[in-house]
Amino acid sequence: MTLTRPMPASEAGPRSQTLFERALQALPGGVSSPVRAFRAVGGTPLVIARGEGSEVVDVDGRRYLDFVMSWGPLILGHAHREVIEAVREAAGRGTSFGAPSEAEIELAETVLALVPGVEQVRFVSSGTEAVMSAIRLARGATGRDLIVKFAGCYHGHADAVLVAAGSGLATFGRPSSAGVPPASAGQTIVLPLADAQRVEDLFAREGSRIAAIVIEPLPANHGLLVQTPEFLSTLRRVTHAHGALLVFDEVISGFRVAPGGAAQRYGITPDLACFGKIIGGGMPVGAFAGPREIMRHLAPEGAVYQAGTLSGNPIAMSAGLATLRVLQRENAWQRLEQLGARLEERLREVFREASAEGEVVRFASLFWLSLQPGAAPVAAEGIEPRAADRYRFLFRQLLGRGIQLAPSAYEVGFLALTHDEAQIDRFASALSGALVAERADGVRS
Ligand SMILES: *Cc1c(COP(=O)(O)O)cnc(C)c1O
Repeated sequence: MTLTRPMPASEAGPRSQTLFERALQALPGGVSSPVRAFRAVGGTPLVIARGEGSEVVDVDGRRYLDFVMSWGPLILGHAHREVIEAVREAAGRGTSFGAPSEAEIELAETVLALVPGVEQVRFVSSGTEAVMSAIRLARGATGRDLIVKFAGCYHGHADAVLVAAGSGLATFGRPSSAGVPPASAGQTIVLPLADAQRVEDLFAREGSRIAAIVIEPLPANHGLLVQTPEFLSTLRRVTHAHGALLVFDEVISGFRVAPGGAAQRYGITPDLACFGKIIGGGMPVGAFAGPREIMRHLAPEGAVYQAGTLSGNPIAMSAGLATLRVLQRENAWQRLEQLGARLEERLREVFREASAEGEVVRFASLFWLSLQPGAAPVAAEGIEPRAADRYRFLFRQLLGRGIQLAPSAYEVGFLALTHDEAQIDRFASALSGALVAERADGVRS
């Protein structure tokens, strides 16, 4: 006989509430990373007790079908047996040596085998560190200072990339966070996505001073803003022509949209690639990688300094290695594409049947709900602020129906290998119910 489980509700349960009260005292905003605080959707965050496959269970014993998947790393689902086993084994041999270990060499070789154009890898402990270090390497290798990034792309929280576009034609950036010196932000130029002409014009003016373009080749941190192959080719061409480097931030797309990430999907090889999330299989790992010709500028071989006490940590390396091995063995990318196609089709149907405004954007196992009329936007500037209000309502409706999406309108959803057709259908019917509730709410107000 099974015990009756507490049903999910749109409000956190009593134990989550109590624990989060304590969290608010001990942690700024109650969290270790801001978006977890539910500020964009309202309510109290669920305090999670454990994850199992496609589901998380909160401290009140409520079970949710999870499409956050730790924000991307858990492509195999929660607590995958082989990953947990690899972590247990590695931990039994010691947590850290501060010296080379076999797992780190094997993971590096696996990355080289999977990612086109990569000859060497440097491991770090987060995506932020990977991009921050790749930028330093690009500057050191080119002897130039300026960096180009695109509005809507997130590259972690280093000074050089916490930058918003300047006003008008002044493309030189201004800090997008307090505490970032304007002098530092001023070394970064921010352009809109999907506008090749702006890139051409900038390089015609400043090309000889630009060290690198940094971009998420599949922008997935401000909605899912899929770019055309032509736009990415333009970046490849102008950087080549002006002696600048092209840096692909594949922290989300790497090992997810193809074995070789978005670079492989688009057939465009960047000069440097940054990884995170999946590469650690749920443990803190980042990496940046490229041809030997560029990587040789890193210390101890070259003059660009970069280091880390826990870099290449043997437990984390083992988790990453186990994850990549399962992905390869199961040819996971094909199965994830199938699941993605199913999800796209079912959710589209739901919007159509509800006559609700919205578009399902999907690329491989990533998806995003564009909650505005017309075609989905391809640049950050195209996202209507009103969409966030709709998301807030739908998010809470879905949570009450046992479906966990990210607590922000701008975050994408992640499919894992453990998701199945029945779970996707469950999501679709929950969304259908949420859209009905939205309509009723609209009629009331
Ligand atoms: C998550 C993310 C980062 C930052 O990685 P952290 O491990 O959170 O520091 C950088 N770039 C992209 C594209 C990301 O999605």
